[in-house]
Amino acid sequence: MIDLSWIIDPIYIATIFFFIIGMYRMSHPLTARSGIVWAGAAMLIATLVTFLTPNLTNFALMAIGIVIGGGFGYIAAKRVAMTGMPQMVALFNGMGGGAAAGISAVELLGTINTTSSLAVIGGIIGAISFAGSIIAFLKLQGWMRPRPITFPGQQILNMGVLLLALISGICIVLNPAWIPLSIAIYLPLFFILSLVFGVLMTLPIGGADMPVVISMYNAFTGLAVALDGFSFATPNYAMVIAGIIVGAAGSLLTLQMAKAMNRSISNVFFGAFGATEESDVQIQGSMKPIEVDDVAVMLAYADKVIIAPGYGMAVAQAQQKVKELADLLESRNVQVKFAIHPVAGRMPGHMNVLLAEAGVAYDRLFDRDEINQEFPSTDVVLVIGANDTVNPASHRQGSPLFGMPILDVEQAKNVIVLKRGQGKGFAGIENDLFYRDNTRLLYGDAQETVGKVVQALKKL
Ligand code: NDP
Repeated sequence: MIDLSWIIDPIYIATIFFFIIGMYRMSHPLTARSGIVWAGAAMLIATLVTFLTPNLTNFALMAIGIVIGGGFGYIAAKRVAMTGMPQMVALFNGMGGGAAAGISAVELLGTINTTSSLAVIGGIIGAISFAGSIIAFLKLQGWMRPRPITFPGQQILNMGVLLLALISGICIVLNPAWIPLSIAIYLPLFFILSLVFGVLMTLPIGGADMPVVISMYNAFTGLAVALDGFSFATPNYAMVIAGIIVGAAGSLLTLQMAKAMNRSISNVFFGAFGATEESDVQIQGSMKPIEVDDVAVMLAYADKVIIAPGYGMAVAQAQQKVKELADLLESRNVQVKFAIHPVAGRMPGHMNVLLAEAGVAYDRLFDRDEINQEFPSTDVVLVIGANDTVNPASHRQGSPLFGMPILDVEQAKNVIVLKRGQGKGFAGIENDLFYRDNTRLLYGDAQETVGKVVQALKKL
């Protein structure tokens, strides 16, 4: 058979450029779709070219793995609703972490040599990412209590488990003669402890911290893959560079999300956001409903309207109607802006993607820092399915949301909140915005109610 193995490294290098172009294009909503195609093509080429590696004996197993994994991924990605993306990302990311841990296990079962320490570090990070991502998936899917789970002595237990995992990892590499145990004991112990640590580390995280956690495990998986790529006798450059890119991008995203939430990373992991209940807080006032026709009149005679969308807009798939409403108001010389909170919805950039899909021009979207000072001079703010991201409880010391930067919509002259009923936001915390004197509630599914407002406006 002709030896084509010389072609592998040049093609790996070419795919790395594809990955970088893909990442670059993903940074803007208008080019993001093609970015995914570039990165997907790179991954496909890198996978195919790996089959040219000399002395491969397990073609059938590799093919079965690719068919099962690829088939499951294809069907899951086709079926997932936009609002279910975070749990799917958590699950897929967990699979990546698990695969990296599996590669480490195979490497460590072979000869222990100078690169084994890299396989150990890749193994622990991959196993933590796998177990932690599965817990994140269960919480986001609602199959597990989404609030932080805390208990006395939790952090000491967590640190103890991590320490034991590290010690067993060191024992795998050094195999000290004075400890009467063999690698047959250390290896499973190492992976079990790493997995347990991944679960324990994620239990106390919940509420509004979930976006930070998802992106951090994403970075972990990238790092684990890169370390595994280095740990082979002949390094696999595609794994090293793709892993480094994912690790770096995931780390940057983690820092950005943490900054958006005004939280340090250590605070996310040890602060148990939302663990305290607010049973002692008595909210004054009542929730005052408003009718569609009254909303239409208020909007029609406003000078300036700001729309603050959130997760409920995504659930209702109301973005097309919202765009129609904005266009209609602008045709009546009402100034319309969109206020986008960085963690609105259930994934980074969720609102930007939905609104871009509906054809809302990018220059009409403003992030929190750009728009917050404009609320006092705004006649009407339409809060469409947003809750945590507009909750003024974040200004109140003692609130579980204290310190989280929000859109200060309560400073507007009038606030109209579109929601279905008494539902709370993702963090499960009562929102006193809904009880304020300048707030009115328009109840119903957002797509339906925005549609009715559009119809009412057309008649004015
Ligand atoms: P929230 O999840 O806080 O609130 C959503 C609101 O939408 C609820 O009040 C709900 O009330 C309403 N709603 C639900 N369905 C509909 C519908 N069909 N029509 C109208 N209203 C509806 O939304 P936010 O966007 O303000 O906040 C996002 C939260 O999610 C934050 O806590 C964030 O940390 C978290 N998160 C964000 C991620 C990200 O990356 N962006 C990832 C994971 C979590 P009702 O039931 O009464 O209708």
